[in-house]
Amino acid sequence: MVNFLIFGPPGSGKGTQSVKLAEKFNLVHLSTGDMLRAEVAAGTELGKRMSSIMSKGELVPDEVVIEMIAVRVDNTKDSAGFLFDGFPRTVAQTVALEKMLNKRGMRIDLMLVLDVDHDELVSRLVARAEQSGRPDDKDPAVIENRIDVYKSKTEPIIAYCRDRGIYQPVNGMGSIQDIFNRLCDQMKNYPQTPLKGG
Ligand code: ADP
Repeated sequence: MVNFLIFGPPGSGKGTQSVKLAEKFNLVHLSTGDMLRAEVAAGTELGKRMSSIMSKGELVPDEVVIEMIAVRVDNTKDSAGFLFDGFPRTVAQTVALEKMLNKRGMRIDLMLVLDVDHDELVSRLVARAEQSGRPDDKDPAVIENRIDVYKSKTEPIIAYCRDRGIYQPVNGMGSIQDIFNRLCDQMKNYPQTPLKGG
């Protein structure tokens, strides 16, 4: 098994790239943002409690997402590995993920970080709001808050992963295909991952 984190600020293209990468490398794509939105859409108790936090652009409590991920990791068999998208978002979540993987004889193999200019992030999110209807994309103040939360709570994970020798920055500017090719160039160095379509 080979496990990747895809990392970057809101609007950096993690979700778009994750879908394509999971398909190509036969990975299980785990997005905590998608899982939380599914809870909200289904109107579950958890979804109701989390939706106001999400609509402000704040992080939901660590234990909520750690539990969601633990269930998925425990229930997944026979995949080439996992692609974690939007998780971990705090150092505490990172430590929990490492423990979870270590218990199963796995580790975080590579952290891919998409680097994108601030102005480009904002314009992508504003454009996405038109199609996605995501409430947290509509309000410019919420967008700025999500970028601030990323800088203060999430970015410290980079130093943590750099110390472990698994940090790999990737230029996240340009076309979806160009960025995808750059990510593939990094991931194909992991030979245990079976490639689809070359
Ligand atoms: P984006 O990267 O575009 O901001 P996501 O879809 O990853 O969006 O997440 C949307 C929202 O869901 C976040 O702003 C946050 O409120 C919540 N969320 C998602 N993943 C996590 C996580 N790992 N820890 C805490 N909150 C999370």
